[in-house]
Amino acid sequence: MPSAPDQPHLLHIGDEVTGSFRCAECDLLVTSPLENDGVLVLPSCPLCHSEAWRRVG
Ligand SMILES: [Zn+2]
Repeated sequence: MPSAPDQPHLLHIGDEVTGSFRCAECDLLVTSPLENDGVLVLPSCPLCHSEAWRRVG
C-alpha cells in the first residue's frame, strides 16, 4: 500500500481534540487532560515546533 505524502489524519494546532496524539515530526506524545471535559487544544510541539499531530490508536 503506497504511503501518501499528505496524511489525511493529521490534526493541527488549535484543534480541540480528546485522546492521545503524537507529533507528526518527532513522535512526542500528548494526551488530553482530565479537566476541562478532557478537551485538549493542540499546541505546537514543544520539542520540534511542528504544527501537525496524528491520533494515537
Ligand atoms: Zn515534535
